[in-house]
This record gives sequence, C-alpha cells and structure tokens, in this order.
Amino acid sequence: AREEGPDSIRLFNRALSEAEEKRQILVADLRQAIEERTLSLVYQPQFNAVSGQITGCEVLLRWCHPMLGWVPPEQFVGLAEQHNLISALSALVVSQTAAELDSKGLLGNQLPRVSVNISALEFNNPALMDTLQQELNGVPQLLPFLQLEITETAALTDLNASVLQLSRLKQKGLRFAIDDFGTGYTSLMMLKELPIDEVKIDRAFIRDLLKQPRTIAIVEAITAMARGFGINVVAEGVETREQLECLTACGCQEVQGYLLAMPMAIDELASFLDKQKDA
Ligand code: C2E
Ligand code: CA
Ligand code: CA
Ligand code: CA
Repeated sequence: AREEGPDSIRLFNRALSEAEEKRQILVADLRQAIEERTLSLVYQPQFNAVSGQITGCEVLLRWCHPMLGWVPPEQFVGLAEQHNLISALSALVVSQTAAELDSKGLLGNQLPRVSVNISALEFNNPALMDTLQQELNGVPQLLPFLQLEITETAALTDLNASVLQLSRLKQKGLRFAIDDFGTGYTSLMMLKELPIDEVKIDRAFIRDLLKQPRTIAIVEAITAMARGFGINVVAEGVETREQLECLTACGCQEVQGYLLAMPMAIDELASFLDKQKDA
C-alpha cells in the first residue's frame, strides 16, 4: 500500500485543495471580469454637515459574480493584490469613474471632489504607483477633482517612505486622504508628518460616539488638530441623526454614511445631484 498517512490528514489535504481550487477559479473569474469590464462602480456622496451641500463622493467597486452573486470588495481586492491584478483593477476604477462622471457632466461644481480607494500594496510599491500615474494621465478631466484614499496602515508600513511618496505625487497634483484614521497607535504622528489633504475618521469611532463618552473627546481632538494643520476631516459611517448632531458639536464638518446617502450607481447619482441642486 502507498504511504498516504491517516485518513484525517488525507481529508484535511483534500479540503485544503478544494479551497485552493475554488480560489483559483475565483481569481480566473476576476481576471475575466476585469478584462471584460463587468465590474461596476457606485458612488457615495459626502456632505457638509452644516450647510447640507455635497462636498464630494467616494467611488466604491462592486463585483456581481455570475454564480456566487455579490462578492465583498475586501475579498476580491485581496485576491487582486495576491495575484498581480491590482494595477488592472485600479486602472479600471479610474478610467470608468472618469468616463461615467464625464458622460453625465458631473465633474466640477456639482461634484467638487471624487475619492478613489488605493490598496495598501499598491501605495507601498513605487512601480505600481507609476503605473497608476500613467493611467491618470489618460484622464486629465478627472485629475483636478481626484483624491486618493489610502488606509492608515498602508501609510504606516514605512512612514519615511510614505512621506517621500506622498510629496512626490502631490507635486504632480494628486490629493490624498488617510482612510480608517485613528485606529493606529501612531495616528497623531502621521498627522504631524504626512503631507495629506484629508483624514477620514474610522467608522468605529462614529459607532461608539454615543456609547462611550471618551470617543467624543477623541473625535474633537482629531478634528481640532487636523483643522490646525489645514487638513480636511470627514466622518464615515454616519448612520443616525444623533451621531450627526454629535459630530457637528465636535466640530467635524464633513460626513458620509447611510443616514445621508447610500452608495449609488451613476444614473442615480446624477438625479440625486440634480435634486440637491434644486433644493
Ligand atoms: P472603505 O474605504 O472604508 O469604504 C467604506 C465602506 O463603508 C464601504 O463598504 C461603504 O459602502 C460602507 N459604508 C458607507 N456608509 C456606511 C454606513 O453608514 N454604515 C456602514 N456600516 N457602512 C457604510 P464597501 O463598499 O463594502 O467597501 C469595503 C472596503 O473595500 C472599502 O472600505 C475599501 O477598503 C475596499 N474597496 C471598495 N472599493 C474599492 C476600490 O475601488 N479599490 C480598492 N483598492 N478598495 C476598495
Ligand atoms: Ca475609503
Ligand atoms: Ca474607511
Ligand atoms: Ca475600511
């Protein structure tokens, strides 16, 4: 008889390879979806909490798999990172965003700012950022309004490298937001060192705002300090009127979340902005 080890190990190996096989199929499907451009975009408006005016929107990627249905972005972005597809994914987001917003004539006064998410792996790889920049040169109409969101942990990997990277790209006219801000131990140092334009206070703080009074002091401190540095502050994940009021009292002027608007497809965004204009 061949040496195959105990049944339990054989079963374990088979389960592993089944999972691996599923992954391979998903990667192949993702590659195909990118090539055929069957992924879609949704846009979530951001608002000035005091005036109610729209200050910009965040672009979020969606993938409806033909068999599995909606795949969470965290999952397929992770896959793209692991399989050398992240540049193609970002290129798609940037070009499709420009094409869609352009087709509706939304760039500019109706939509002063358009934020696109950049993966940590991409931000920390200068060659990938060069590729992204070439892609951006192809959409000059979007460039003046574009802001790139990188997560706090991405910028943290190597703070000195991030400072250089951001300075270099800012010279070329790009703007940057730090996403999921405030969760790291060195958040304050990042605020001090990094040449950024915006911080997005992590949803976890907004969620705890009314449950844990200390959170209010933290949000106040972040907001005050950012303002002192001339950095814009956006609170994300605002779901209730109480949170909105509390944020305004904290001095946080910009908000994004289900309470104000859900992420929506381009047609919906166009009519949303039109209604807003008439209001
Ligand atoms: P993120 O950048 O922190 O995006 C915010 C997420 O919060 C989005 O989830 C959005 O739909 C959700 N959200 C917005 N308002 C609320 C709210 O009031 N309550 C709650 N509970 N959630 C809210 P989504 O679209 O599932 O995206 C998840 C993550 O996937 C994003 O987190 C981002 O890290 C990543 N992602 C999405 N699109 C892209 C993309 O085009 N490129 C890259 N690299 N990453 C992306
Ligand atoms: Ca984001
Ligand atoms: Ca975020
Ligand atoms: Ca997040």
